[in-house]
Amino acid sequence: MCRYYAHRHSCNHTQLSFAAFCAPAALLQNPCGSRHIWQTLAVEEACEDCRGGDGGGRYHDLPGLRR
Ligand SMILES: [Zn+2]
Ligand SMILES: [Zn+2]
Repeated sequence: MCRYYAHRHSCNHTQLSFAAFCAPAALLQNPCGSRHIWQTLAVEEACEDCRGGDGGGRYHDLPGLRR
């Protein structure tokens, strides 16, 4: 099981980011696909999806306004 950080954002979404390979995955330099939450980190910002790149807009929910 490879290790991942879970970032818990202020919007209550949790995003995983890769932290470390387990031994078999390290040989391949490729995550094995089995995720183990290593640490949960509180993030005082909304996640990227909620921020939408410009401070809280949800433009990506609207087709045609995609940048
Ligand atoms: Zn692994
Ligand atoms: Zn969010």
